Amino acid sequence: MNKIEHIGIAVKNLEESNQLFAKLFGKPHYKMEEVKSEGVKTSFFQVGENKIELLEATKEGSPIAKFVAKKGEGIHHIAFDVTDIQAEVIRLQKEGFVILNEAPKKGADNKLVVFLHPKGTNGVLVELCQEIKK
Ligand code: ZN
Repeated sequence: MNKIEHIGIAVKNLEESNQLFAKLFGKPHYKMEEVKSEGVKTSFFQVGENKIELLEATKEGSPIAKFVAKKGEGIHHIAFDVTDIQAEVIRLQKEGFVILNEAPKKGADNKLVVFLHPKGTNGVLVELCQEIKK
């Protein structure tokens, strides 16, 4: 794993949270993107070298809707940048981690993503992401 790519925060209302975090960081988000397959709307903030992703559920029963219903708003996942996501999946499986989706799927921000089951990582939902080369 190369570095933390971003930290994901689940929110109830993306418009309101965009304004709140813009005040916090002193600048607005630089993009918004909907990932229909995941039932989520996202926005991204650049803070120095780091990125923060806000996520709002767009439909009931989606992963973010379930998270917010169960735990409320807050930090949802930590995403790590990887160079070769397939190789990382194989390596982590050998180490005994449970992968939620073995076939990488298209996430926000032009990334292939895989999630690890938080039960195997002390309750932290870990996302691996690899930039899709254009
Ligand atoms: Zn993410």
